[in-house]
Amino acid sequence: GPPADCPADVETLGRGTWTLLHTIAAQYPTQPSPGQQADIKGFMGILSRLYPCWVCAEDFQKFLAKSPVRTASRDDFGRWLCAAHNEVNVKLGKPEFDCNLWEERWRTGWKDGRCD
Ligand code: FAD
Repeated sequence: GPPADCPADVETLGRGTWTLLHTIAAQYPTQPSPGQQADIKGFMGILSRLYPCWVCAEDFQKFLAKSPVRTASRDDFGRWLCAAHNEVNVKLGKPEFDCNLWEERWRTGWKDGRCD
């Protein structure tokens, strides 16, 4: 890609955004309050309108309309987000990620200890 001090292209923006979103899921409570659930729902709706790649934002709004954000627990939100990311992966011809592994990738690190 381009040097790091150039304006973000769609790939750099996407990697940074997915990192933020999956890391928010990793920190999300196992038993969220109604206010915490409302924050996630509001944040995802606003992100889908402000995301600075217009074709991406349009498709993400469609995904949200057919698959409303799930916020009942960390695992609920983490798996919903994984499915949202996989929808983009499929669209771009990238491999689908195994959502059973989302917490190892984004919260605990891999069981082989390579992230320790
Ligand atoms: P990324 O897809 O950025 O993923 C980063 C890392 O996340 C991967 O290396 C992997 O370890 C992990 N990962 C991969 N899949 C999952 C998953 N399902 N769950 C958990 N972890 C996972 N780009 C376009 O060209 N067109 C679009 O329409 C488009 N829409 C987007 C919509 C949104 C809301 C976002 C946030 C990004 C969008 N992007 C789009 C960007 C695209 O998704 C990628 O971020 C970009 O192509 C860079 O891909 P990458 O291969 O580096 O890995």
